[in-house]
Amino acid sequence: MKLWQRVSAISILILFLVVTSLSAVLLINAKDTILKMTVENTKTEQQNLISSFSGMANYYLKVETKSIVQRSGIQYCFSRFASETSVLVQAGEILYSNLSINPEKLLPIEDNYQEQVYQATIEDTEILIVGSNIPLFKDIYSVYVVKDITRVYQDIDRMILRFILISGSAILVGISLMVYSVRRSTNPLISLKDMAQLISQGQYNERINIHSKDEVGELAIAFNTMIGAVQSHIKNLEDILHRQNLFISGLTHEFKTPMTSMLLHTDTLLSTKLDEEKTLESLSHVYDQCRWLESLTQKLLKIIVLEEKIIVKAVSIKELFLDIYNSSLITLSDRNTPLKMEWNIDSLDLDYDLMKSLLINLVDNGSKASKKGQSIILRAYNNIIEVEDRGIGIPKEEIERITDPFYMVDPSRSKLKGGSGLGLTLVKKIADLHGINLIIESQLGLGTTFRLIFPK
Ligand code: ADP
Repeated sequence: MKLWQRVSAISILILFLVVTSLSAVLLINAKDTILKMTVENTKTEQQNLISSFSGMANYYLKVETKSIVQRSGIQYCFSRFASETSVLVQAGEILYSNLSINPEKLLPIEDNYQEQVYQATIEDTEILIVGSNIPLFKDIYSVYVVKDITRVYQDIDRMILRFILISGSAILVGISLMVYSVRRSTNPLISLKDMAQLISQGQYNERINIHSKDEVGELAIAFNTMIGAVQSHIKNLEDILHRQNLFISGLTHEFKTPMTSMLLHTDTLLSTKLDEEKTLESLSHVYDQCRWLESLTQKLLKIIVLEEKIIVKAVSIKELFLDIYNSSLITLSDRNTPLKMEWNIDSLDLDYDLMKSLLINLVDNGSKASKKGQSIILRAYNNIIEVEDRGIGIPKEEIERITDPFYMVDPSRSKLKGGSGLGLTLVKKIADLHGINLIIESQLGLGTTFRLIFPK
């Protein structure tokens, strides 16, 4: 059984029990009250009849009057106040009656002065009898009011029927509303189920469209947040996988070229008798390739092995800059791209060796991108270190990708200058470890600035 069906069935059962039991209590009370009122009215009528006719009899008749005369006088007085429901009895003899039924059937005349109220059913007719004895002169007279209350019972039956109809309709309307609202409130759960199915099929772009402010709405929000989180985790994993694939294919490519070249040269050296000059040429080629492979391996190791946490301490900018200057001096002099340095701060918190490696890479890149005579500027101010060159610049659309492993804007040009496409990957990794915000500004033909904004 589905949830909405179960909730509806329980609600309907509760509604039915509540309405029927309330109706039953109300109807029983109403019936009792109507019958009580009818009895009370009849009693009042009978009492009025007694006091009226006995008052008149006492006024006109005397004790000494002959008994036969008294009887007919009392009969006369009774008839003056009697209606079609009144009965007068004396010593078992009916002195006055206008009833359509034989009053003897109805009147168990008891010889006491207590008021008697009872009901009888004669030929489908409900009869209410209220009677009492009254002493007049020397005799006892019984006065009865006999009422046909069939209509009262018919009215009660009609009232019960009307009540049942109204309660029945109310129950039907209640059931429809209940089923509708239960169905409505469980509908979002069906959407949630459908959505869960879509997500299990990998459709992470879907979102649940429920905006109610109840628990279901909150569940939908939580569900959407969960899908968003799953989607972003998957995207991250895909990105990582993509980067790893690029890394591996770049790595394979970078290793393959020097390996092939070394194989060719060693094969030639082993299989052919070369003169001394050619042998030296081949060996120096193998040596170059080995050095290249070694430097590539060093960079790769640094990128892979770098700890996730580094310990920074205040480092003198002057000391760091002079060290970089000395380390780059030979290369920069060879290329005739002088390094200028400016700083107006004493120190910054950093890891000395890693920062040296980062800045040497940037200075080297700046130098490779510059023409002879163009200077590189290494600058420090506030919490910023900048490396600026006036070289060829980087196309805007490439800036985002130049920190990717093995990415080179112009591979043949970079390779000619000993590039591997790993320098900026290492730069980015070291910057991230320091919590540095790396900003690259470049204009084609005008130059490039790498800005390292240190955390304050
Ligand atoms: P590489 O070993 O080739 O220098 P990097 O990761 O250091 O590798 O740089 C990636 C690419 O970004 C380079 O091949 C070069 O095309 C470009 N690049 C880096 N720095 C600069 C710069 N200062 N000016 C122009 N292009 C640059």
